[in-house]
Amino acid sequence: MRRAAFLDRDGTLVEEAGYLDRLERLVFFPYSVDAVRVLNRAGFAVVVITNQAGIARGIVREAFVAEAHRHIAETLAAGGARVDAFYYCPHYPDGVLEQYRRTCDCRKPEPGLLRRAAADLDLDLARSFVVGDRWHDVAAGHAVGARGVLVRTGLGRKDEANPHPGAVPDVIVDNLMDAAAWILQQA
Ligand SMILES: [Mg+2]
Ligand SMILES: [Zn+2]
Repeated sequence: MRRAAFLDRDGTLVEEAGYLDRLERLVFFPYSVDAVRVLNRAGFAVVVITNQAGIARGIVREAFVAEAHRHIAETLAAGGARVDAFYYCPHYPDGVLEQYRRTCDCRKPEPGLLRRAAADLDLDLARSFVVGDRWHDVAAGHAVGARGVLVRTGLGRKDEANPHPGAVPDVIVDNLMDAAAWILQQA
C-alpha cells in the first residue's frame, strides 16, 4: 500500500478563484509543479480532492471540472510532475440542481473522497497526509487517521486566525512547497 499526499485544489494547488468556472481564471502558484514533483519522487501517490459545490449551485459546469483537471494534468506533465487521480464532490445540500442536491459523505470535512481514492489506488490512509487551506481539509484527513497540513495560501490565513476546535492542523506552513518539505521530513 502506498502513502498518499492528498492535495486540495483551490487555494492550495492553484489560486483560490471563488467558483473557478473558466480556464483563464485557473492560475498555478509558481511552486506548485515543483512541489508535486517532489512528492512524486518521494514515492507518494498524489491525489487532488476538491469540493465543487459550484456544480450543485449551477455555477460551474461539471464538464468544466473535467476540463480544468485535464489542464492541470497537462501543466504538471510539462514540468515532469503527475497527479495520480482527481476526485471531486459535486454536491451541496442547498444546491439548485436536483441531481446534486444532497447531504453526501464526500463533501469535505467528510472523508468520502479519501476513502474512495484509498480503495481505487490501494492507499495507506494512516500513513498519508492531507494538505489544504481550510479546516475542512484537515478534518477530512483526521477522520481517516491521516495527518493534516494547513497552508496559508487561499483562505488559509483566515482559517489560521479563526481556528476550528475540531480540526487542529498537525502543522501550519506558508504554502504547498513548504508542506511538501514538511511531509518529506516526517516520512
Ligand atoms: Mg481550498
Ligand atoms: Zn459529495
